[in-house]
Amino acid sequence: MSDQNIPLAAGRHYLAIPGPSVMPDRVLNAMHVAAPNIYTGPLLDMMDGLVADLKAVARTKHHVAIYVSNGHGGWEASLANTVAPGEKVLVLVNGMFGQGWANHAMGLGLDVEVMDFGKRAAWDFDKIADRLNTDQGQIKAILCAHVDTSTSYKNDLQHLRQVMDQAGHQALLLADCIASMGCDRFEMDAWGVDVAISSSQKGLMTPPGLGLVWFSDKAAERQKSLKQVSPYWNWAPRANPEGFYQYFNGTAPTHHLLGLREALTMLVHEEGIENAWARHEALARAVWAACDVWGQGGPVEMQVPDAVDRGHAVTGVSIGAPNGTKLRDWLSENLGVTLGIGLGIVPPDDPDWHGHFRIGHMGHVNAHMVLGTLGAIDTGLKALGIPHGDGALTAASRICAGQD
Ligand SMILES: *Cc1c(COP(=O)(O)O)cnc(C)c1O
Repeated sequence: MSDQNIPLAAGRHYLAIPGPSVMPDRVLNAMHVAAPNIYTGPLLDMMDGLVADLKAVARTKHHVAIYVSNGHGGWEASLANTVAPGEKVLVLVNGMFGQGWANHAMGLGLDVEVMDFGKRAAWDFDKIADRLNTDQGQIKAILCAHVDTSTSYKNDLQHLRQVMDQAGHQALLLADCIASMGCDRFEMDAWGVDVAISSSQKGLMTPPGLGLVWFSDKAAERQKSLKQVSPYWNWAPRANPEGFYQYFNGTAPTHHLLGLREALTMLVHEEGIENAWARHEALARAVWAACDVWGQGGPVEMQVPDAVDRGHAVTGVSIGAPNGTKLRDWLSENLGVTLGIGLGIVPPDDPDWHGHFRIGHMGHVNAHMVLGTLGAIDTGLKALGIPHGDGALTAASRICAGQD
């Protein structure tokens, strides 16, 4: 820490971590009401519109189920409705969340086969094609993260669907879109994704507590062939309820629904999903441009080397231990911005853990928030004497000005 440390942290603190993301005041205010009636009235009346908007976000005409859960609940829901214990699933992994979903599948008694591509590599589609071509129909579902938030890899789901079709493979395609939904382009129907999962607290700008599962007709048919489905996770009544309580298998998450309603109004009806994707892309490119410049004069390196493989909601960075943790702590204490920890790159008890951090740029973020975060990092690098290239902010500004 520098000797002439000027305290500059007062003012609105900014949590720039990859979820929970920044919640718009409008969303929080929409939740600040007395308990609404759950038997009749506006809460019930708004469900048709809410469901339509959720489908618009995932670009599907098929079905959606809403759970009182986080994203892990979405993982469990998707498996409970598509596969039976003992059946085989193939999990494509390039980060901690892909592996986490695989672990859930094991816990549910599935026969789990993991293809792990490491933490610094995109999927190898030749290997995936080889595996699918030799499979005799044992693999019932392919599980994968669209964007793995631990590494920030974005995986090419369209290409995966192509490879599956070329192999004539009938497995269901299940995608974890928890980090990407509302941030990165995602076209459930056009890309042939059978089940997509998200949760409320990332691109959807609502407090944690809702798990969302979109599913295709093919997945719905598959569910009907299962001998038994957990009543709580059963998506059929939730997607096609006869009474309001069936949407949630019990009492509705009243205030989360009000918050989500406001967030979807902002995302779908005001900004528009295409514009939200374009905003996330530009802001991500600004972050990457700054990282590139820092890296020209010091040990700053993005986790994903190739820009086409990077998600637009989060950027994983390594800077060498212990400077990752030092930088995060310094920014939190002195400049009022908190960066995300490095997750799943090395174990928490490894000294190298302190060399990693992540910048969250998902949901309710605009250019001044991202440029402010980048300016804060640039300041921290200087204050802590960490070597880095100069001119990161100029590079980021050019992106936001549309000049690069
Ligand atoms: C955040 C996240 C999860 C976990 O979601 P929880 O709500 O914490 O259960 C899973 N997968 C991805 C890709 C995520 O970004």
